[in-house]
Amino acid sequence: METIALQTAAREELVDITELVAGAVARAGLTDGAALVYVPHTTAGVTINENADPAVPRDVMMALARLVPQTLPFTHAEGNADAHVKASLMGSSVTVPVRSGALQLGTWQGVFFAEFDGPRRRRVLVQALAGAAR
Ligand code: ZN
Repeated sequence: METIALQTAAREELVDITELVAGAVARAGLTDGAALVYVPHTTAGVTINENADPAVPRDVMMALARLVPQTLPFTHAEGNADAHVKASLMGSSVTVPVRSGALQLGTWQGVFFAEFDGPRRRRVLVQALAGAAR
């Protein structure tokens, strides 16, 4: 298993980690199979979406902020309940097929680390899942 270390820069941020995931797949020596990308945090997540137009990740974060405002009557005493909810909405993992050593993402797709309670030091785990080459 490969670990990607991140330092996020804002409370809420989508960080394009596509190349970091590709690097982890290469380090793992995976040619055919899948990469399980897992975020072991409760106030951050991972998602796949467009990384061509930077307006798309901005719009995703804007919409999440409106769906789950910090002003809801939360009871979690840490003051970051919105971040926990947003992390659950994004999810903790994505799985990307790998063929001939390359992530099989669509033309406009990228893998994003979703920070909801930064800035913090974060980790992303990449587990190479070997499969048959066909
Ligand atoms: Zn909390």
